[in-house]
Amino acid sequence: MISKVSILKINDSIFETVKKSIDLIGGINSYVKEGDIVLIKPNLAYPYPPPATTNPEVVESIAKLCVKAGAGQVNIGDSTSYSCKNILGYGLWSNADVIKRTKMDIAAKMSGARMIDFDMDTWKMIKIDDGIILKKAEIASSIMEADVVINVPVMKTHFETLVTLAIKNYHGIISDSYKIQFHKDDLNQKLVDIHKVVKTDLTVMDATLAMEGLGPRLGGTKKMDMIISGNDVVAIDAVATEIMGIEADRVETTRLAAAQGLGKMDLSEIKMYGLKIEDVREKFELPDVRISGIFPGITIIEGGPCIHCYGRARIFLEALKEVKNKHDISYLIVGTKPYNPDYSEVKGKVVFIGDCAIEHSTNLRNALGKRAICVDGCPPIPSVHREIDKLKGDK
Ligand code: SF4
Repeated sequence: MISKVSILKINDSIFETVKKSIDLIGGINSYVKEGDIVLIKPNLAYPYPPPATTNPEVVESIAKLCVKAGAGQVNIGDSTSYSCKNILGYGLWSNADVIKRTKMDIAAKMSGARMIDFDMDTWKMIKIDDGIILKKAEIASSIMEADVVINVPVMKTHFETLVTLAIKNYHGIISDSYKIQFHKDDLNQKLVDIHKVVKTDLTVMDATLAMEGLGPRLGGTKKMDMIISGNDVVAIDAVATEIMGIEADRVETTRLAAAQGLGKMDLSEIKMYGLKIEDVREKFELPDVRISGIFPGITIIEGGPCIHCYGRARIFLEALKEVKNKHDISYLIVGTKPYNPDYSEVKGKVVFIGDCAIEHSTNLRNALGKRAICVDGCPPIPSVHREIDKLKGDK
């Protein structure tokens, strides 16, 4: 298979640009045949508008093209980052909330597609024989049963994986219990393993409004006005990364996927259509998870955390800026073996980020009682939202 990628700026409507970008790599009829069941997978990780999630207009355009091509059924589906409400009983959102708040249900309705909430649908246990980290996973039945799979990621930076593009977008096709597994170690390899059993026919990347900096949720917006299409998830990620001003081989998912034969990362082996990378290249701000000196009133103790706890600590501190001085947090402790201040030195509350910090601070936590805020988990994903929620409720 020749790896093809097209790049187009939006000069007319989003629909026309999406159509033209797919036309450049063979046209929708070369991907969707009469009667096919199509599954379109946007990024619906959060209950927030683009660029946190895929632009519904891009998804609607693709769905309309599939209907026009004679598809028997067009489905749009995803499962949000962590459906905290569903699995833990707390959290800011459920998958149903995300679908509604991103207006993806309206995009489905307008295009004649069916919206599928993966969390309310069924999962299939799939063996991944050549998986390196993930040997099996519960994958959404509707993606496994589709004749055609269309991946529709949004262009974003990501503090754990550097970028989240086509390869990372499939974290949303596995159940929450499998999302949690291997999230700390080997997340990149896990994502690549998923692509070994779910083959993508077409990827249409939403680069209308992209995210830079502290992605995937709290980064800044970057207007790109672009649609990128391709028939190879590795090639499209390589091209998109270069457009973001990052060398393709700095992204571990791209490197691993290319090395394991899932597609092409070498730009000289990718057939390009439309605009050239150098004509549209931008300099994206990279994710910054430094935590010291971000919030002057709080003493930070870093006991060697991994990137996941660094990121959540930064997210927590960013959220604190919103509650300004209406809290009495004096310390934030994070890391595998953090130093503990003497109880007598501590005024107000102390935040412990991650199971490591919690486990290594038993005496201090016991002494603090209700003044200890424990952001539990490894990595502490839903709990960070739970604690931020509580603080905001307190303000
Ligand atoms: S709890 Fe410890 S091991 Fe887990 S993500 Fe945090 S620092 Fe890493």
